[in-house]
Amino acid sequence: MSGSNQNLRFKTIRDGVPADELFNKEGLTYNDFIILPGFIDFGAADVNISGQFTKKVRLHVPVVSSPMDTITENEMAKSMALMGGLGILHNNCSVARQVEMVKSVKAYRNGFISRPKCVPPTAPISEIIRINEAKGISGIIVTANGDPHGKLLGIVCSKDIDYVKDKTRQVAEVMTKREVMTVEKAPIRLEEAMDVLNRSRHGYLPILNEADEVVYLCSRRDAVRARQFPHSTLDKTGRLVCAAATSTRDEDKQRVTALAAAGVDILVLDSSQGNTVYQIAFIKWVKSTFPHVEVVAGNVVTQDQAKNLIDAGADGIRVGMGSGSICITQEVLACGRPQGTAVYSVGRYCASRGIPTTADGGLRTVGDICKALAIGANVAMLGGMLSGTSETPGEFFFRDGVRLKVYRGMGSLEAMSQGKESGKRYLSENEAVQVAQGVSGHVVDKGSVLKLLAYVAKGLQQSAQDIGEMSFDAVREKMYEGQVLFNRRSATAQNEGGVHSLHSYDKKLYAAKL
Ligand code: NAD
Ligand code: IMP
Repeated sequence: MSGSNQNLRFKTIRDGVPADELFNKEGLTYNDFIILPGFIDFGAADVNISGQFTKKVRLHVPVVSSPMDTITENEMAKSMALMGGLGILHNNCSVARQVEMVKSVKAYRNGFISRPKCVPPTAPISEIIRINEAKGISGIIVTANGDPHGKLLGIVCSKDIDYVKDKTRQVAEVMTKREVMTVEKAPIRLEEAMDVLNRSRHGYLPILNEADEVVYLCSRRDAVRARQFPHSTLDKTGRLVCAAATSTRDEDKQRVTALAAAGVDILVLDSSQGNTVYQIAFIKWVKSTFPHVEVVAGNVVTQDQAKNLIDAGADGIRVGMGSGSICITQEVLACGRPQGTAVYSVGRYCASRGIPTTADGGLRTVGDICKALAIGANVAMLGGMLSGTSETPGEFFFRDGVRLKVYRGMGSLEAMSQGKESGKRYLSENEAVQVAQGVSGHVVDKGSVLKLLAYVAKGLQQSAQDIGEMSFDAVREKMYEGQVLFNRRSATAQNEGGVHSLHSYDKKLYAAKL
């Protein structure tokens, strides 16, 4: 350094701006800003990414799947809860179908088979071979009436029939009888069942009620696999937490009553503009009729909207209007808000009231989820990011050699007409003109949501580490104190932040061994 430079007085400048300065002028979204890194003195694996979805329910992985009919039915809901997130069952179906989905989630016991394959004692051995070949199941229980929850008589395993020549013989002749079997009584925890399986060295353990009827079957293979999910979202009795969507019309009270009877834990009031007399009255009705059921209200994008729903008794607030990947609301109705600003503004207000917020819509990458959590959301809701995974409803099909699935907005004409057929009525259905707020499109096969969520969780840990905080709760606390700093990104900065200057490349996002 030259002598004259040494004497220069450098005025200290701030490297970035705090969140209130970033969001106080124009409406921004995730791509418009970046979080500045902090100081790291801990490992990424030490980061706690958990977040509050409602007053009572905290998620180990702060991600929920959207209540859309191409995203969340029972299979997705189970997988999300197993991974430590949550799936919100859609309501574009009859009450009976939604109740069936709730029951399926609540009956699911990680590591336990709730409807085991089973035969009556009179079934021929050939039937065991058929089930074995079709389902790959090597142990089939025998009950008095052939019902999966009937009185247990015995079990037939491959080794019992391998050397039997006459396949017309009845299973009663070859099964291992109840009297000599190892069984346990319900209720039993997975670890206890594993201990019994290890001691007995058997592949299967039937769990019975007092009348010797089958409640669950525990298989060694499933129990080992169940250990993959140490952070599942469980209720007080060890069952998966279940959330379901509803609208706010008078007839939805009957839906909610049936969902509550089936054991639903959380109701998500599904609307693009939730600040209505209808939603306020509905929240009050649910909270007074089913006080144990939590209510996530929305959607909102302003503090005033959130205030009304919190005052009515909401246990969580969902933020987002017009930001979804399948959404045309802002285009058609000119109402909504850029999602970054909406999440910051509403998140800040809700935090002051002690109510968690969910950032819903427009999240395209793990980085977007990090940004949402850093600017005030407690949890992220995903539609598009989870679309095309194996656990979503609908069949894959091929087009031009690419494996695809349908992903559509719940306000698309396609979804509205499906609802009409299956029992959910849309309010405008009797009107001469139905205004679409969403589109229907196709997305590529993304593999299993179990791997995708593991990738999201790991990415979130690494992000918080770069920011220099050991949890997203801490990131938000520092953000509100003005200690987490941000930069606006110009259009060219956004371009620089993506892959550039390559002739061609393969974008592989993660490798996961699950
Ligand atoms: P909605 O059922 O809330 O609203 C439809 C209309 O019915 C609205 O005008 C509403 O005010 C009215 N309404 C609600 N309850 C009523 C009652 N008890 N009596 C009389 N009128 C009542 O649903 P929506 O906003 O049309 O959304 C439909 C679907 O599309 C939802 O799944 C929603 O999530 C999705 N969507 C979301 C967004 C978004 O940006 N988040 C945008 C558009 C659509
Ligand atoms: P995505 O994750 O960006 O695909 O956004 C999903 C979110 O879009 C959902 O959780 C809903 O809030 C919203 N959404 C669902 N259906 C529609 C629609 O038809 N129009 C507009 N928004 C929708």
